Amino acid sequence: MSGPSGCGKGTIVKALLEKYPDQFALSVSATTRAPRPGEENGVHYHFISGEEFERRIAEDEILEYTTYCGNYYGTPKKELYERTAAGINVILEIEVEGAMNVRRLCPEAVLIFVLPPDPETLEARLRGRGTNTEEDIKNRLLTAKREIAVMKDYDYVVINEDGGAEIAAKEIAGIIFAEQHKIERCPEAAKAFIG
Ligand code: 5GP
Repeated sequence: MSGPSGCGKGTIVKALLEKYPDQFALSVSATTRAPRPGEENGVHYHFISGEEFERRIAEDEILEYTTYCGNYYGTPKKELYERTAAGINVILEIEVEGAMNVRRLCPEAVLIFVLPPDPETLEARLRGRGTNTEEDIKNRLLTAKREIAVMKDYDYVVINEDGGAEIAAKEIAGIIFAEQHKIERCPEAAKAFIG
């Protein structure tokens, strides 16, 4: 799942996990960036050093990784595979380059792009956070433009209206539940009947 900063991914994921706690889980990425106030190690990210991150890459413990604003971000393999083996839908909240790598490495992954309803709403949400400088807002809007240009390579798009996180979460669940019923994902279903 990707979407520009300010599209409301975090709120949607929260709503999704609350509504379907047994079917969905969030992948906790490893990063070398410093925790923000309120962020907990092991909950929001695994906060690790650059040295430790590079060790994990070398040991093949990271499925995909990228550098973003000078820091490493990556998806730990072990947690992901343990959960998918248990039948849980694991959500990777990652930027577009990482998503394209996941597409290549895990062709069974479903790629969902979250969009705000319109550019004005995106800008208003970024400004509404109050924690970003003018330069930061301009940067994020530019990055958003670049990210949205990659959306055509995703499988689905979900629009997150103002106050619409619960609806968006339901739409995402609907996409995943439908995907689970695709014939190619159930190769054994007919076997007992037709041999
Ligand atoms: P932030 O520093 O705001 O938490 O995250 C910065 C960007 O890194 C966001 O676009 C987020 O989705 C992305 N990101 C977080 N974890 C990963 C990861 O494991 N892999 C990749 N490729 N991107 C990630």
